[in-house]
Order: sequence, then C-alpha cells, then structure tokens
Amino acid sequence: MADVELHELVKTYPGGTQRASDAVSLHVADGEFMVLLGPSGCGKTTLLRMIAGLETPDSGQVLIGGRDVTYADPRGRNLSMVFQSYAVFPNKRVADNIGFGLMVAGRPAEEVRRKVEWAADLLALRPYLDRYPAKLSGGQRQRVAVARAIVMDADVLLMDEPLSNLDALLRLSFRAELKKLVGELGTTCIYVTHDQLEALSLGDRVAVMRTGQVAQCGPPTEVYAHPADEFVGGFLGSPPMNFLTGTVTGDGGRLDLGGASLPVPAALRSFAGKPVRLGIRPEGIALGAGLTAELEVLEPLGSSTLLTATLAGQRVKISAPAGFRADPGAELRVALPEDQCRWYDPETQLLLETA
Ligand code: ATP
Repeated sequence: MADVELHELVKTYPGGTQRASDAVSLHVADGEFMVLLGPSGCGKTTLLRMIAGLETPDSGQVLIGGRDVTYADPRGRNLSMVFQSYAVFPNKRVADNIGFGLMVAGRPAEEVRRKVEWAADLLALRPYLDRYPAKLSGGQRQRVAVARAIVMDADVLLMDEPLSNLDALLRLSFRAELKKLVGELGTTCIYVTHDQLEALSLGDRVAVMRTGQVAQCGPPTEVYAHPADEFVGGFLGSPPMNFLTGTVTGDGGRLDLGGASLPVPAALRSFAGKPVRLGIRPEGIALGAGLTAELEVLEPLGSSTLLTATLAGQRVKISAPAGFRADPGAELRVALPEDQCRWYDPETQLLLETA
C-alpha cells in the first residue's frame, strides 16, 4: 500500500478552453478511501487518469508512496483500475477474467488459482467461476471487474464510476459490499463519482470538485454540515442547502430578511448594513414555532415529507416528519436554529467564520 500525493497538477486538453485540472493538490493517505465528487465535466476522470498514467499533466507532480511517477509508465505504478464499463472479456470465463492480470504478469498457475478463489469468495462469485460474462447479471459482472482489480495486490485501487451502470437497488447493495471489502483490504482507494450519496457513504474523505479545482476536501460529515462555499452546499444534499439573502441590521445584531428577522452571530457585526447569505439544510429547519412561512407544495417521500414553502418572499425546502399534513397555502411556523445556520459572503460565496 502507499499514499498518493498530487502536487499542483495542471492539464489542458488540446483545443480545450479551460483547464481540465487547474493546479490540483491533494494528499490521499495510505489506506484512505478518497472520493472525487463533482458535476459532469469538472475534471474527476482527468485527475484519476493522471494518477493512473493514462494522461500526462502539463505540469505538476504525482507521487505514489513518495516516488515521483508523473511520467512513469502506467504499468510501473502498481495500480489497479475499475472502470464504469465493466471491461470484462466476453470470451473468457469468470475465473480467467479475474486471473487475467496475474497471468499476463507471469505469476505461477497455483498462485493465480489461489488468488482467483480468494477474490471469488470475497465477492460471492465462487458459483460463477466457470460461466461466461454473458450469463451474468450486471452486478455480477461488475463484481468480476472488482475481483480482477483486487487480486493484483496493487498499492492503490482507482475506481471510475464503477456502480453507475447498475440499477438503483443493486447499486445500493453493491455500495455497502464495496465499502466493506475495501475497508477489509485496507488498500488506498481513489473513487470517482458524481453521485453525492455514494460519495458520502463510501469516502473517508470527499474531495468536491468544480471546474478543475477541489472546492473542499474533508470527511463526509464535515463537507455536508459545513460547506466551504455555496457551490458545495448546493451540490451536496437532496434537496440541496437552502440559501436566503438578507441584510445585517445597522446594529449588527440581526438579519433582516424583509418581513422577518433573526439573530446573527456576533462575528458578523462587521457586515452591519450589508447583505449576507444564510445557508440552512432542509432538515435543519424546525417546524412548530418561530417565523411565518407559507406552504406551497407538500411531497410525501415515505420516510419523510418534503415541504416547499415561502419564507419572507424566498423559497425554502423543509424536511418534515413522515405523516406531516397541511394544505397548500397553510401558514407554517418555522425556526432556523443558530447551530443549523451557516453564513456566506454574497460576493465570494465563501463560508464566513462565526465561531
Ligand atoms: P464526467 O462525470 O462527465 O465523466 P469528469 O468530471 O470526469 O466528467 P473529465 O472527463 O475529467 O470530467 O473532463 C474534464 C474536462 O475536460 C471536460 O470539460 C471535458 O470536456 C474535457 N475533456 C476530457 N477528456 C478530453 C479529451 N480527451 N479531449 C478534450 N477534452 C477533454
């Protein structure tokens, strides 16, 4: 196993108008599960491919286990990769698919057999070792791709959207299996996804990316609860964080939302007379007392009820308990508890320190 260090990695594709990787620096610790998360085109795959050696950066460095491999051949990096397209060989049985890399590497037949059986047991593929991929389900095929990657004893496992071809249920169960497996193996893992739930569920840390840069990197609970900027708050969460615009009163004590007001932290006194943005998660808004809001839409979601309401002329989403009932147009009382409020500079959209 090894750590991975990215230092100021820059990549612009020929004809590209902006950098696909814009001086990205990131350290992935030995044994860590790092998720690269972000919208389509933000540069996740480019970063992964530069780590794998499938793309050469314009500048910057990739270090694996302290060794500079920026320009090293992919085969010299001791990495395994799992792609979105399962990339299993249709004309090879499952056992031969799993053992393919080992055979190409010229490992003894006995070792190949032992490792194939070990991986097949871990991924519940033992009954299918003699089958061809055409006779497997999508989930089983994906497990073959993962098995093939883990038998290689690589220092680092790279995965690019490996679950995105699976249906929703299979994806959910395979996500948990994958988390357990990688945790048990203790391999350093870098995992690309645009699915925020997958990122939060799997990552020891999540690097949220935007236009070739890492907007925030931290443990899932931290990036979710304390988004470093409005982009991260708006990208993570379903529905995303609510943002309300108001003006801090002249004495610096309250936020005036125009028709409603609430206290602001003392640290925001310097914003007296100026606008700030208040960010709050739908589940952070408490129902029952406080400001007045008008219900627009009520959506029962099974385990909770999603409310769309208007608060001081601004639209908010509120997560209410399952079974919550009210008619559109009804008056709601909502509280925005201080510990649930995050404050953003409207110019920079960056989180303001209030502690
Ligand atoms: P997705 O989630 O859609 O796969 P991504 O976050 O992985 O997206 P990349 O595939 O890394 O994003 O692409 C980053 C940017 O680089 C995009 O603007 C994309 O159009 C561009 N790009 C990627 N590959 C190439 C290429 N081979 N040639 C030219 N431009 C490319």
